[in-house]
Amino acid sequence: MSEDLLQDLNDAQREAVLHGDGPLLVLAGAGSGKTRVIVHRIARLVRDEGVIPWQILAVTFTNKAAGEMRERLEALLGLAAQELWVQTFHAFGARFLRREAARAGLPPSFAIYDTDDQVRLVKRLFAEMGVEDGSPLTAREALSRIDRWKNAALRPAEVEVSSYDVEGQLARQLYERYQAALLRAGAADFGDLIVMPTRLLEEDAALRARWAGRFRHVLVDEFQDTNPAQYRLMKALAGARRNVCVVGDDDQAIYRWRGADVSNILGFDQDFPGTRVVKLEQNYRSTRTILDAAHAVISRAKRRREKRLWTDRDAGAALALLVGEDEHAEAERIARGVAAERGRGTPGDEIAVLYRTNAQSRPLEAALRAARIPYVIVRGTSFYERAEVKDAAAYLRLALNPASDIDLERVVNRPARKIGEKTVERLRAHATAKGIPLYEAIADRDAVAELKPAARAALGEFHDIVASLHADVPALDAGIAVQEALKRSGLLARLEEDHSDEAVERAENLAELVAAAREFDEALLGEAPPTDPDDVRPPPLARFLEQIALLGEADAETPEGRVALMTLHAAKGLEFEAVFLAGLEDGTLPYERPWSDQTPVERDEALDEERRLCYVGMTRAKARLTLSLARRRMGYGEGGPSYRQMEPSRFLRDLPPELFGEAVAREVRAREARAAAPPLARPPVVRRHPGALEGEPHIELDGDDGIGPARPSTPGPRGGPSARGERISGEPTVEYDL
Ligand code: ATP
Ligand code: MG
Repeated sequence: MSEDLLQDLNDAQREAVLHGDGPLLVLAGAGSGKTRVIVHRIARLVRDEGVIPWQILAVTFTNKAAGEMRERLEALLGLAAQELWVQTFHAFGARFLRREAARAGLPPSFAIYDTDDQVRLVKRLFAEMGVEDGSPLTAREALSRIDRWKNAALRPAEVEVSSYDVEGQLARQLYERYQAALLRAGAADFGDLIVMPTRLLEEDAALRARWAGRFRHVLVDEFQDTNPAQYRLMKALAGARRNVCVVGDDDQAIYRWRGADVSNILGFDQDFPGTRVVKLEQNYRSTRTILDAAHAVISRAKRRREKRLWTDRDAGAALALLVGEDEHAEAERIARGVAAERGRGTPGDEIAVLYRTNAQSRPLEAALRAARIPYVIVRGTSFYERAEVKDAAAYLRLALNPASDIDLERVVNRPARKIGEKTVERLRAHATAKGIPLYEAIADRDAVAELKPAARAALGEFHDIVASLHADVPALDAGIAVQEALKRSGLLARLEEDHSDEAVERAENLAELVAAAREFDEALLGEAPPTDPDDVRPPPLARFLEQIALLGEADAETPEGRVALMTLHAAKGLEFEAVFLAGLEDGTLPYERPWSDQTPVERDEALDEERRLCYVGMTRAKARLTLSLARRRMGYGEGGPSYRQMEPSRFLRDLPPELFGEAVAREVRAREARAAAPPLARPPVVRRHPGALEGEPHIELDGDDGIGPARPSTPGPRGGPSARGERISGEPTVEYDL
């Protein structure tokens, strides 16, 4: 065993890394080195045990986490790391299905539908079924039911719905048609990427033997968030060898709403008898203050197994609290805090701003832009969600598979060719009646006979474009393929004729797509030829489209130097020097659904999950954690958008005041002594200069505090100008409402 792989590990971590064959469960809190155990274990297997890299499968939750894991492995193993299977469950599923496409009834170049594609497909199916969208189910509601079934790896025929459940009955019927339509279009949705491999493996012993035989080791990070379908997939792949290593933290289970099931952790022992369980208790990431704060929040969860992390690090900086009158003021405070953080030399990519819901990002973005702070929203889908980019992708998907009706419908009249909705409807009726794809219907004389000559000509032209792309493009490099599609489709030419700002921006986006495809080709060039004899890699274009499709939540790389903005869900597994956690208000975090018909038990469970989310957010911070809230926030009430008064989050009230610094704690104690009752309803709010020094309370109240946006980012003299113009002396003022 090479010394260096074991050097930076504590005894428990070493035990996990050195564990030989058989099931292993590492159960531990945030920042205790679980991911490090996976990485070092893989490195040891390859370097010291001679396991061939492609015989190791490691699964993580987001592409970003997979990317980081891969980087760490490359640092340890060099080129050998390239052939490791390190990816998300979905990316693994896609890779598996490309190889086993025929068994799943799919073409190897199958398309992966995103939510938008799914919704359009369901709406079309509703129309065919004579169901009005929204009564009794909307397309999205129906899809969420289908999704739930897929999370449980159920096929349409296996779904059981009570005969009284009208909505359920409809969803079940729809599920059947939906799957048939996907197959006809040669497409899979995200759920299929898990369900199909799982079921194929479970039902075909020879196939299972082959795949389970190839992976000598299966490792799963963030195990607490696997859903039953993913769990079964893992089990099938582990096979009789049972070399599975799973690491997780029940306190960080935040995907219950997506069907994740913590009982996977609790039941692991039963499915894999003889499991060795390793617990890690030392946290290496955060200061003691941050750990204490996180513990104060998580320890109040109703259903939880007690565990406590320790650290040998110092208390470090006190927590900071920013309060804004509304979400814009809150965002401005955060922007200033970020500026101060950068001012003290923290690189942008070591700073994160986290929030509960995507909608919260808008004011934050505006404030960061105004403060000229470079940032990136870690989500990844935004670029590929742009209409023109999706149009281009639709042409490319048609090039691979002209039978993809959803793609055809999307671009048949893009750029505009005077092919109206009426024409498309007629073609659709014809295609449905004959059971053929739209692409064939267009070329079918009977179908187009009654159309006006202009429409017929336009359709003929469109058909030629798709046919030529289908004939020429699939085997080309991705960059050239994208260029050809843009040229032949006329998408780019149309934009270039138009000189509006919008058209220019769209054209730039398409150029960016070409650039992305070229970069992808270049990366492929650097790929070593596979030593894995089974590794049949699809042509570049198909792989490029797959990569686009798999860019889900939390997937963009953080370009160097930019502050990362992301939801709490996307932040899982990551770490930053300084973290700003926004929206600590009841209703925002914990989030409350505006229209909730939850039972008390469900409400408790939902609140626990919000607590875990808050815990995940807080434990991302290594050195400094700033919490913020708005006193009122724009929301959607019964009468449309309006401001709501917000109460500070109950999670905030769970925090011991000392964590905000001794001065705050003293003041709180004094106030409490003076006013024995009523109880503290709001957290203390202290006016303080934001450029606080290490270890000092850094709390700031909104209001015209006389400090303009161009506030110096370096710490000012102790006690900056205060809210009402007077200077605060060394002692922070505490203001709280009782
Ligand atoms: P999370 O639950 O948030 O995913 P984790 O348990 O996976 O956290 P890691 O990300 O593996 O934790 O580790 C947290 C930090 O601690 C990392 O920066 C890692 O490099 C560091 N670390 C882990 N173990 C050690 C160790 N034995 N010595 C020094 N640093 C360590
Ligand atoms: Mg981790």
